[in-house]
Amino acid sequence: MLKLDAHASGRHFLHIPGPSPVPSRVLRAISYQTIDHRGPEFGQLGLKLLEDIKRIFKTKHPVIIYSSSGTGAWEAALVNTLSAGDHVLMYETGQFATLWKNMADKLGIHAEFLGKPGLEGWRRGVDAKLIEERLKKDTEHKIKAVCVVHNETSTGVTSNIAAVRKAIDEAKHPALLMVDTISGLASADYCHDAWGVDVTVSGSQKGLMLPPGLGFNALSPKALEANKKATLPKAFWAWDEILVSNKTGYWPTTPSTNLLYGLHEAIAMIESEGMDAVFARHQRLAKACRAAVTAWGLEILCQEPEVYSPVLTGVMLPEGFDADALRKLIQERYNLSLGTGLGKLKGRAFRIGHLGDCNELSLLAALSGCEMGMTAFGIPLKGSGVLAAQELLR
Ligand SMILES: *Cc1c(COP(=O)(O)O)cnc(C)c1O
Repeated sequence: MLKLDAHASGRHFLHIPGPSPVPSRVLRAISYQTIDHRGPEFGQLGLKLLEDIKRIFKTKHPVIIYSSSGTGAWEAALVNTLSAGDHVLMYETGQFATLWKNMADKLGIHAEFLGKPGLEGWRRGVDAKLIEERLKKDTEHKIKAVCVVHNETSTGVTSNIAAVRKAIDEAKHPALLMVDTISGLASADYCHDAWGVDVTVSGSQKGLMLPPGLGFNALSPKALEANKKATLPKAFWAWDEILVSNKTGYWPTTPSTNLLYGLHEAIAMIESEGMDAVFARHQRLAKACRAAVTAWGLEILCQEPEVYSPVLTGVMLPEGFDADALRKLIQERYNLSLGTGLGKLKGRAFRIGHLGDCNELSLLAALSGCEMGMTAFGIPLKGSGVLAAQELLR
């Protein structure tokens, strides 16, 4: 870590749900000398990466790689497929869904927000029935896209995207399906083609184990068709010019060369472990984390077991305890970073990330820090979450 402050001994435990810890193999790859992004060596790397990344999204269609955070890739998805005044249907699962909707509003798109009121909608997954009912009423097909968040990082809920696809099909509606899996990619199973997604939005700093700085749009033929008619202003984000350059392994502007080295290494790591093994590891750690929360006698933020997130677990604190003051204590005493409660959950919940380069002992260390911190903070715990998690992982 950068030492801006007094030295903290031992390692830093980064357990926010992204950025996630970057493995040293990836850090070493990023440290290679930057090369000519118009030279032959770069073209080879570009061509290989643009093929490799398709396997991560489980798609045969093009994936655009931007030098941007995930937010940029959100904007790219909207401006490349829509025109001013278009109607879109979005679904309020939490803070990230809310931010994406706010962006749509700023871009001059009419975004309608579905979902349950108050905190209720923030504690469960997308209800595909609501989407189906709404689309059936739209007999004139005014709604141009349905936008949902796959893994809602503010709450720890992983919605069923195949069910959303089915809802759109049942309503016989032509809307595009756009999905944010910024925190789900390479941690939770995700199938761009099989689920019939038109644009998938993602980023580098979560399941992909890279630093922040790469944004992704996975496309479908239907999205490319919509792109031809979409008139929202776009320049840096425009897919067409990038796709032309990508054909030979290059980008129209200077790409993030060193992050692309890192991406190459990260994909090699994910594929050598095996994608299914990566997903199973995330599920196992998530289950152990939930066992800990339950043993503490605290409430898991997500209230629907079938959509528990393998990426992170949200923990509700009892009335009267400020989650941010607790996180501060844990950070200062144990050098452990936990996720803050976002939006409606500010001060009421914290989040434990168990994504990317995480194993049994890194999770147990984080749970130990939580348990010691909560005890020191005066939160009455029913039992030891660390022991419950160990039992599950043994
Ligand atoms: C992290 C995240 C974002 C925002 O991405 P940035 O890289 O911070 O711009 C959006 N949606 C979800 C679900 C996320 O987890």
